[in-house]
Amino acid sequence: MTKAYLSLGSNMGDRAYHLREALRLLNQVEGIEVRDVSPIYDTAPIGYTDQNAFLNLCASVETTLSAHDLLYHCLDVEQQLHRVRKIHWGPRTCDIDIILYGEEQIQDDELTVPHPRMEERAFVLVPLQDIAPDAIEPKTQRRVGDIPVPDDRVQRTDS
Ligand code: ADP
Ligand code: MG
Repeated sequence: MTKAYLSLGSNMGDRAYHLREALRLLNQVEGIEVRDVSPIYDTAPIGYTDQNAFLNLCASVETTLSAHDLLYHCLDVEQQLHRVRKIHWGPRTCDIDIILYGEEQIQDDELTVPHPRMEERAFVLVPLQDIAPDAIEPKTQRRVGDIPVPDDRVQRTDS
């Protein structure tokens, strides 16, 4: 069993529904058990300001799958939601990224773990610190709770 941390984001349609549905579908996969789920954060878009704000959360999973098989299922769940999305909303319902996979460091054509932009993104770090302050970021061997959070605007919601 490996503990992994995922970042989920949605900025189309019923964003909270897409996050909940993604977690439900991930939990249905044999070999993936969703454990802790952070509060949901509302994140102002940075860069492209003419898109909707995102809702973001982090979740921990216990998995018997390899990192690449976990990625495969994350992308598959994205696709399942995108299918719904395609009909109703157009192209962006749910993004699922692997932030940490145990303390492994992986870098190949399909997968980079720890996620290379985790430290630049308050919408990843803030919810990750909620559920996993004691997890270790293997590149620098820091506790997640000790990684400084960038000064982006993330707003905790009640969900
Ligand atoms: P982004 O998540 O950067 O907005 P995409 O979700 O469209 O963009 O990118 C998907 C691709 O990123 C996947 O096909 C996958 O191969 C690659 N990728 C590399 N590292 C990771 C990771 N840690 N988590 C998720 N996808 C990753
Ligand atoms: Mg992604």
